[in-house]
Formats: sequence, C-alpha cells, structure tokens
Amino acid sequence: MRLRIGYGYDVHQLAEGEDLVIGGLTIPHEKGSVGHSDADVLLHVICDALLGALALGDIGTHFPDTDAAYKGIDSKILLRDIWKLVKAEGYTLANLDSTVCLQRPKLKPHIPKMRACIADILGVDIGRIGIKATTTEKLGFVGLEQGISAHAVVLLEAQA
Ligand code: MG
Repeated sequence: MRLRIGYGYDVHQLAEGEDLVIGGLTIPHEKGSVGHSDADVLLHVICDALLGALALGDIGTHFPDTDAAYKGIDSKILLRDIWKLVKAEGYTLANLDSTVCLQRPKLKPHIPKMRACIADILGVDIGRIGIKATTTEKLGFVGLEQGISAHAVVLLEAQA
C-alpha cells in the first residue's frame, strides 16, 4: 500500500501547579495539563495518528501509563521513538494536520515554534506540519477551562 492515513484524538485535564506543554513547548499559563508523561496533548495525537496509519495500536500500547519509566517523560522522546517505527516500516510523512482545542491562552503566537519542533523531530520540511488552534466558545470542558483536547491526521507515503 502506497498511502496510509492515520487519526489521533486525546484529552488531558488542566490543573494549577502543572506545566502547560503543547507541541514540545512549555507555554506560560496559570494551569497546565495533567498526565503520566509531560501530558503534551498535541504530540500524543500525532503519535496516535502515526501509529494508527500503520495499524500499530496506540500510544498507550507502546508506552503504558502504568510503567514508571514513562513518569513525567518528555513526549518528544515518545514521538521520536514512534517515528523510528514508521521509518522502519518504510514510510515517510506526506503531511500532517492538527487542531488543538483550548479556551486560554491564545496559542497562535506559539504555533511557528511548535511546527518547527515537530518538523525537526520528524526530519521533514515545516511545510508538511499543520497546526491550528481553536477555542470552543466557552462551551464544554474545553470552554470551561477544565481540559485541553487535540485532533491530528497524518498521511504516510511508502518510500520508493
Ligand atoms: Mg495523552
């Protein structure tokens, strides 16, 4: 199969006293995301989309949250490991697109750095990495600032 599509979705709670790590960046805010790792919701959905494209399970299969080895781990390490799997399967990234859902703070100023960070990990041109952000108009858990969610799709192409 030459082309494979993958999708990822993830949610994390927000709480005071936690770092807000999104797309490999720590963003100054009074609340951060809660999780076993650094709780980087964007890198998690990209990991899940990559794994999904190759039907290799999900991030929890590869890095169980019951394993102390992954406590507080930088999700960039998880993405690097999963990308190695994708390369080993003989695929490269055509493009990825993603949306982060967060009521506050505004993510737009941070998106160029997130794109650069992810492009660097995957060793691809930044033009292949799409990141968008949306509030949910103060509706639901995102709008009430109880949590953060993200979606990602990837298209993988078999290497010639
Ligand atoms: Mg997660």
